[in-house]
Amino acid sequence: MKKTAVDRRVLLGAHMSVAGGLYTAFERAERVACTAVQIFTKNSNQWNDPVISSDDVLKYREAKNKSKVELVVSHDSYLINLCGAGELLLNKSRTAFIQEIERCSLLGIKYMILHPGAHTIMDRREAVGLVADSVNYAHSSTADADVVTLIETTAGQGTNVGSSFDEIAEMLSLIRNKKRVGVCIDTCHIFAAGYDIRTKETYEATMNEFERVVGFDLLHAVHLNDAKKPLGSRVDRHEHIGKGQIGKAGFRLIMNDERFESVPKILETPKGEDGFAMDMVNLKLLRSFIGKP
Ligand SMILES: [Zn+2]
Ligand SMILES: [Zn+2]
Repeated sequence: MKKTAVDRRVLLGAHMSVAGGLYTAFERAERVACTAVQIFTKNSNQWNDPVISSDDVLKYREAKNKSKVELVVSHDSYLINLCGAGELLLNKSRTAFIQEIERCSLLGIKYMILHPGAHTIMDRREAVGLVADSVNYAHSSTADADVVTLIETTAGQGTNVGSSFDEIAEMLSLIRNKKRVGVCIDTCHIFAAGYDIRTKETYEATMNEFERVVGFDLLHAVHLNDAKKPLGSRVDRHEHIGKGQIGKAGFRLIMNDERFESVPKILETPKGEDGFAMDMVNLKLLRSFIGKP
């Protein structure tokens, strides 16, 4: 019997804090019934490289096995700039990026999402090449790690690279180890970068362009965020699902699009006071779309 979209296990969840230990992400995920979750493996606003002990790994793996979370993705530190200007920032970024991959490897996290970086003083083309060089360097420095690095689409705020599918495709073409690279679409970011998904027509045009330029076979994660700012604003501000400039229709289309079916979908929307209430609301709304295009 053919399974309907509702029967299938949808990989849906939210970014969760690891305050109190990496394993605590699963307790939080459980509270809002996540089947997929995203974590930082360290404080995302610091350069430090915390030691993950074998006890930490054990606790993490035990908690994961007991939970209903089927897939964990990690997001790298916000400080990392893989096309950073100057040797100091670039080297620091590359070292931190490699450490991110190593921590994922230790924890058995297959997908690590990265922001390409900001080009500041160099031109975009040069920056795109430098991001690819950094990723190549990290891949060869972590040859044994079973971790796939996912380039996240950006809003193009400031001098951030990776805001067009063409730019993402160019980075991908320069990355040598094809088995270790993929893409993460962020709905808020692509919308802010000018890709409309508000109606069936604009949604199809955007996704067909993604298929043509990048390819859905490389898509391994999606960030589901509505956008506070208008189409093409290039401003990265996340809003609750259906409450922003994208609106419910765009998310309904994604939740019923076969091309997104097996892709983990992660909220990065504001948490609300208790840290859970708004995730609950957003996830419930997204689940309600499934099977009702
Ligand atoms: Zn994102
Ligand atoms: Zn964002």
